[in-house]
Amino acid sequence: MTGTYNKTKEVALISTPWPLYNRPSIQLGTIKAYLHSKHPEVEIHADHVFLKIAASLGYPLYHEISERTWLAEAVYAALLYPQRFDVIEKLFNRLAKSGSLIKKAGFKKITSVIKKTTDTLIADCNWKNYQLAGFSVSLCQLTSTLYFIKRIKQKFPQLIIAIGGSTFSGSTTPELFSLFPEVDLVVNGEGELPFSRLVGYLKASVNLSEIPPIPGIIKAETVKSNGASMGFQQMKNLGDLPPPDFDDYFELLKSLAPRNMFFATLPVETSRGCWWQRPSTSGKSSGCAFCNLNLQWEGYRTKDPAQVAAEIDYLTARYQTLAVSIVDNVLPRRTSKEIFQKLIGLEKDLRMFSEIRATTSWPELNLMAQAGMQEVQIGIEALSTSLLTKLHKGTTAIQNLEIMRDCEALGIANYSNLILHFPGSDEQDVAETLRSLAFAVPYRPLKTVSFWLGLDSPVWQNPEFYGIKSVFNHPNWGCLFPKKVSNRMRFMIQAYRGDLGYQRKIWRPVEDKIKTWQKTYTELNGRPVESPTLNLSDGRDFLIIRQRNLNSETINHRLVGTSRLIYLFCRHHRSIKRIRDRFPAFAEDKIIAFLKMMVDKKLMFEENGRNLSLAVPVKPIDSKILKGGSYERTHPHGSKIFPMPERP
Ligand code: SF4
Repeated sequence: MTGTYNKTKEVALISTPWPLYNRPSIQLGTIKAYLHSKHPEVEIHADHVFLKIAASLGYPLYHEISERTWLAEAVYAALLYPQRFDVIEKLFNRLAKSGSLIKKAGFKKITSVIKKTTDTLIADCNWKNYQLAGFSVSLCQLTSTLYFIKRIKQKFPQLIIAIGGSTFSGSTTPELFSLFPEVDLVVNGEGELPFSRLVGYLKASVNLSEIPPIPGIIKAETVKSNGASMGFQQMKNLGDLPPPDFDDYFELLKSLAPRNMFFATLPVETSRGCWWQRPSTSGKSSGCAFCNLNLQWEGYRTKDPAQVAAEIDYLTARYQTLAVSIVDNVLPRRTSKEIFQKLIGLEKDLRMFSEIRATTSWPELNLMAQAGMQEVQIGIEALSTSLLTKLHKGTTAIQNLEIMRDCEALGIANYSNLILHFPGSDEQDVAETLRSLAFAVPYRPLKTVSFWLGLDSPVWQNPEFYGIKSVFNHPNWGCLFPKKVSNRMRFMIQAYRGDLGYQRKIWRPVEDKIKTWQKTYTELNGRPVESPTLNLSDGRDFLIIRQRNLNSETINHRLVGTSRLIYLFCRHHRSIKRIRDRFPAFAEDKIIAFLKMMVDKKLMFEENGRNLSLAVPVKPIDSKILKGGSYERTHPHGSKIFPMPERP
């Protein structure tokens, strides 16, 4: 590209539909703040354009679409390729759930509203003021970004268009320039450093072709001469990032009609990358077998806990909202306790969400709850340890049950998934899952998701290992894009030939069980009873466990003496040896018989010789008791389990 540009022009950062409308784009906010700190004289505008579209379409309908990748991509695909409208509409109608707002609105109406609003937005913006427009593209934003770029470039061919984000990391890029000549540059990896250097050069040089190579910025000619070589540069220290700048989003929100106002959620990051995904010497990815979430980063970097707390304090004060969503793929292992301690110290009634690993300890989870963590997504993924091993999660079913119980105890809503149909999973995995499910029913149900193959994920990189015969773009891309594009681009969502038919068959009983679980949990917890379905009240030298059931009477159990102590000790999953060492006065065969009885009654879970108490404490248990304390000597022989009369 050899165009000549006006040095004084501004920079636009744009995020198109379909991110969640109720929060600003963290990518735009972070890059804007960083660019501003490096180039204070350059006007940077962050256009969270998806909010404008959401307001015009109506939030409930926008939200429904934004939750469904294929439906979201279909809308702008139909605008991008109007000649393919019928094929795309067919796909849309096939995938839209009957009775949904989407179905009621219909594809024609949705696309017509979106087209009108998008075209008006593009027409109303004075693009002549801009020298550079950077588009951040994550999940569900591919076709919408391409449509915006196409329309803008038609009218303003001089504008430099850069595109980046997680969708353009990994091996997606090489064909992009020839298929979409409107794109001038691709940012590979995170944007702060490459984009800042680009803006620096553009201040001095008005000719894009004169700009020297910048690691992490790919020009069409670079790809032509170097093949797929992309270069890369990322922040060494996240401490160098200023707090994100969400001013544009909140100004836009204020400008909307009163009926479209809401309290927004603030996205914040405490780290980038994933510590579980260690670099491997073979060149293949480690980490969870299905995961391709960290393609734009190398290694794992964290912010200092003091910086995180100061940022959250600053953002909540500046934007007058207390809802915070931590957008990390995984929280820092070493510093997250300190982060939440500092957040407690803010003395603000935060309402937080975060993704967490199942290995998160009780003390850490407890701190999170005190700091205001109200919702989490745990990397549960499976309730079978053999399957968790195949998924390379580094966790076990018993750990998953433990953290599900802890969330229930702390009142943290756990919205986690169970992956079905993972290639290579077998009847043993299903049998283990069904067994665990029988013990998981007191806790908030998991949501089933069918495995999908992510580009550059470990499974994608090593398909033979998982019994996959071939991998290719998901066929739905072939509906959304013309052949010349779908055959040459590599998309983030891939498909494969393997054992899918077998997988669908073996996982059916699990799907049925989960539906029953969801129904039972909703009914049991919809009643005016404040205690969890399986709950525990401690009476100091005895404890009572109540087991509420949907279609039968509540069963009450009383544990006294050593039985009580063992039950409390197994609040964290314990091996027989640990239990025996803790309670030496209690014969091993008696311990084993007691544990077996508890498992038979679904009051404890056993896996590979480890034992976990399942009842949810009505009040947090004193940590001294959990460590065993001195109760063993006080009640050396008094162990019995008493069934109690039903409650009226
Ligand atoms: S799923 Fe989460 S824990 Fe697993 S590799 Fe991906 S980011 Fe890391």
